[in-house]
Amino acid sequence: MTADVVTIGQMEEWVRAFANLIATHKALLTDLDADIGDADHGINMDRGMQAVVAKLEATREGTAGGLFKLVGMTLVSTVGGASGPLYGTFFLRLGAACGPVAELAPQDLAKALRAGNEGLVARGRPELGDKTMFDALHPALEALDGALGEDGSTAAAFAAASQAADRGRDATIPMVARKGRASYLGERSAGHQDPGATSAALLVQAAAAAFAGRP
Ligand code: ADP
Ligand code: MG
Repeated sequence: MTADVVTIGQMEEWVRAFANLIATHKALLTDLDADIGDADHGINMDRGMQAVVAKLEATREGTAGGLFKLVGMTLVSTVGGASGPLYGTFFLRLGAACGPVAELAPQDLAKALRAGNEGLVARGRPELGDKTMFDALHPALEALDGALGEDGSTAAAFAAASQAADRGRDATIPMVARKGRASYLGERSAGHQDPGATSAALLVQAAAAAFAGRP
């Protein structure tokens, strides 16, 4: 077992890093959504995460529960489309699972991330292979648990999770969409990378960056 902890400062850094990555990749996310959806995923996510950052400038959340609740509530209320309620539910459940604590053992954070993912599943009912954000998130959480179980450091475990999320994102390219707007295209959705899987891989990349600071 690793003796690392993840601090509230690092968790806020994760949220801010995600906002930065979304801003940087806003056009890519929207272009991907133009191919198989309605060309708004980057716009949706950037609107939501900029609203989150604005709230973080105004309020200092001292606990993981408070921080992730703020993120979830803000995403639900500012992001139109499918991704707002899905990411919103993920963060609300994550916050509820973390509770009012200022630091977490990585194993407990991994468990809370699972709870977030289960919230997303309860909301959108995605299954593996449906060509959604779940196809990036699920393998990331599997890799995270595997690496933490093998005595890995927090940094190494989240790096492994990020690589798994990237592979999951890439694996959406040949898939035929069975959920969301892309499913309206049927077979024509194959050959395109899913925008939600792409933003989900950025979420895990941001975590790997934010949690890499401690040995
Ligand atoms: P909308 O499709 O309403 O315009 P966005 O463009 O913001 O919303 O988000 C689209 C992404 O949402 C998709 O690429 C997919 O990853 C994800 N998504 C859509 N429906 C579902 C669902 N039922 N479960 C999980 N993810 C979904
Ligand atoms: Mg869209």
